[in-house]
Amino acid sequence: MSVKISHTADVQKFLEEASGLHNDAGDARTKALIHRILRDSVSIIEDLAVTPEEFWKAVNYLNVLGTRQEAGLVVAGLGLEHYLDLLMDAEDEQAGQSGGTPRTIEGPLYVAGAPLSQGEARLDDGVDQGVPLFMQGRVFNTVGEPLAGAVVDVWHANTGGSYSYFDSTQSDFNLRRRIVTDADGRYRFRSIVPSGYGCPPDGPTQHLLDQLGRHGQRPAHIHFFISAPDHRHLTTQINLDGDEYLHDDFAYATRDELIARITFSDDQKRASDYGVSGRFAEIEFDFTVQKTIEPLEQQRKTRVRALEC
Ligand code: FE
Repeated sequence: MSVKISHTADVQKFLEEASGLHNDAGDARTKALIHRILRDSVSIIEDLAVTPEEFWKAVNYLNVLGTRQEAGLVVAGLGLEHYLDLLMDAEDEQAGQSGGTPRTIEGPLYVAGAPLSQGEARLDDGVDQGVPLFMQGRVFNTVGEPLAGAVVDVWHANTGGSYSYFDSTQSDFNLRRRIVTDADGRYRFRSIVPSGYGCPPDGPTQHLLDQLGRHGQRPAHIHFFISAPDHRHLTTQINLDGDEYLHDDFAYATRDELIARITFSDDQKRASDYGVSGRFAEIEFDFTVQKTIEPLEQQRKTRVRALEC
């Protein structure tokens, strides 16, 4: 028989004390959040009869997550990051702000301050001999106007599924650029076809997923921030059609409107027009963003990001 004490006045008072609710210092919002977390934590311990061994295992798990820098990965894998998208979608719908390219998760691997180019850019440094990729498209608003001067901030993995900065063997900002759209709202870039990737197999996220009977793989994808003056910031990514994990993404980022067709070609005439030889790939993808006059809506949500001031 499990013993429950969290409902008693003594324990309730104790949790208030531990949350700082009995003092006038500190931060009221933090106190409210911690108080709720403590109350829910003791409820979980009692309702699920969590043993001390399980409790300390969980505490140690947090230490390992931090040491391995995987907190951002586990929230993606457990679907919490996707849940935030669903919540924001519902808030938008309620506010009548729907329309345009859907948002999807940022993930933990953005690096701020990538080189800025006008109209077009080459993302790869030429070291990784992947299949050359030529991607282009336009940025519109929801009334169909092309947006000149929008910033397409793009980042993706290499053929080994790893990202520059986090993979120190790659050059600075490899496969990361910011491209300003031209007068027609168009952006273009040359890069290499990215590979899908998985959680580090020996890390705490994969360890937890193993116990949930789940894999930790993502389909090949390319991340984007789209921003333009007087328009809503868009955080999104495209997922490449044909990938075996397209509809089985451990981070739940795939959305139907974000599936991009990738076309491979061996046409050497067209390859030489692009300045390459052999096989190459092409993607065409347009983005549509919503108008807004709210300055805060025009910026990405604040969070700790690599190299962001
Ligand atoms: Fe990614």
